[in-house]
Amino acid sequence: MIRVAVLGAGGLGKAASKIISMKHEMVLSAICDSRGFAFKEDGLDGDTIYNMEKDRSIGEIGKASQDSIGEIINLKDKIDGVFIALPNLPNTFIPDTVKRFIEGRYRGVFVDVLKRTSAMEWMFELNDGLKEVGSTYITGCGATPGLLSAAASLASQSYMEIEKVEIFWGVGISNWDAYKATIREDIAHLPGFTVEKARALSDEEVERLLDERDGILEFHNMEHADDILLERVGVVASRDKVEVGGVLDTRHAKKPVSTTVTVTGITFDGKRSSHRFVLGDETSMAANVIGPALGYMKKALWLNRHGIYGIFGSAEFMPLFVR
Ligand code: NAD
Repeated sequence: MIRVAVLGAGGLGKAASKIISMKHEMVLSAICDSRGFAFKEDGLDGDTIYNMEKDRSIGEIGKASQDSIGEIINLKDKIDGVFIALPNLPNTFIPDTVKRFIEGRYRGVFVDVLKRTSAMEWMFELNDGLKEVGSTYITGCGATPGLLSAAASLASQSYMEIEKVEIFWGVGISNWDAYKATIREDIAHLPGFTVEKARALSDEEVERLLDERDGILEFHNMEHADDILLERVGVVASRDKVEVGGVLDTRHAKKPVSTTVTVTGITFDGKRSSHRFVLGDETSMAANVIGPALGYMKKALWLNRHGIYGIFGSAEFMPLFVR
């Protein structure tokens, strides 16, 4: 049984709790939010956590703590895999959190669902520290990057040269405040915004910004780490060949557009063509992020068992299916 710790109990952390509790190969041993943590080695009740109201803290079913991440690091011998569902605000928060696990000499595996290219560049600098403690880390394991960059990597195989990888996502959520970090990090991509500016917005300011746009945000040329991941594995010669955009509806659960990844290339016999992978419209953001993240955790455990340590980009591997 794979004992999982989930860092962060917002929209994605809660969905992860529910999904893990439906899997036979994994148990949710620990989870934390900014105000507390809960631990039960043979499995917390994922449904209870999934159904917790937004203003309640994990500390209420476990223990309140000012440093819940530190508490999870102290449980290091009882955890096989860490799923990081924390906001990456500031943009160095997740790299800094992983440094703490290395300093605490946690030996196991990690996955994250990081989105920004610059944040991922910092992640790769942790390679030596992770190797030294015998941990294996796969970064960029959500939907984009993650599921879609892996699909692009597979699709590229028909071609001799890749001209373009275009990712365009559609996400529909009925309440923005179920996914506050996701929305703030997306707002940071709007013209005139930075990660710091988006982080500093109060909830009321986010609501006003969404009201002005009828709850719909559209993005083009996002700084998404699909580019660095696909460059690292050689799918594209340079990262500017990867383009990411999307439409987010914060008022309706229905996707405003279908999510697609389109890989255009030239075959050995000179034909230009495009492969397109389309996600089913009924699949939610949570389904498309958590499934791949857990699949990549199973892959990271496989690598770790084979003595392969350090940090890798998700596009380097296929996730394994978690039963
Ligand atoms: P959220 O705002 O709903 O929840 C964040 C959680 O982290 C909260 O429970 C909060 O209490 C906790 N937290 C914050 N600071 C903490 C600290 N210091 N110690 C312990 N816990 C702390 O976030 P979300 O919308 O679920 O998003 C999580 C992450 O997932 C974001 O970084 C987002 O960008 C990423 N994401 C990735 C993809 C993808 O496809 N790759 C898609 C969606 C979201």
